[in-house]
Amino acid sequence: MKKIFDTAGISVSEIIDRYGMQHQIDKAIEEMAELTHSMLQHRYGRIESDVVAGEIADVLIMMEQMIKVFTANGQVEQHCVQKLIRLKGRMKDGFNG
Ligand SMILES: [Mg+2]
Repeated sequence: MKKIFDTAGISVSEIIDRYGMQHQIDKAIEEMAELTHSMLQHRYGRIESDVVAGEIADVLIMMEQMIKVFTANGQVEQHCVQKLIRLKGRMKDGFNG
């Protein structure tokens, strides 16, 4: 994700410094709701997948900011690895949910 920010020529810190941490937390909540809504709309055949892709992009951009706001370096990556290892074990054991 950092590479995408680099390509766009903007940093997470710049965004948070400009708009403020609380505002960006509120914006993240808003974007997650928009993604949820778009996925439901897509399920019902009311919108194209590209609209969902745009909402996913909004959420990814916000999540990169939330990682900076809420976590220490590498904390989310560590959680991801642990959760993926646990998921892999469940899949291996035939767990379906
Ligand atoms: Mg959005």
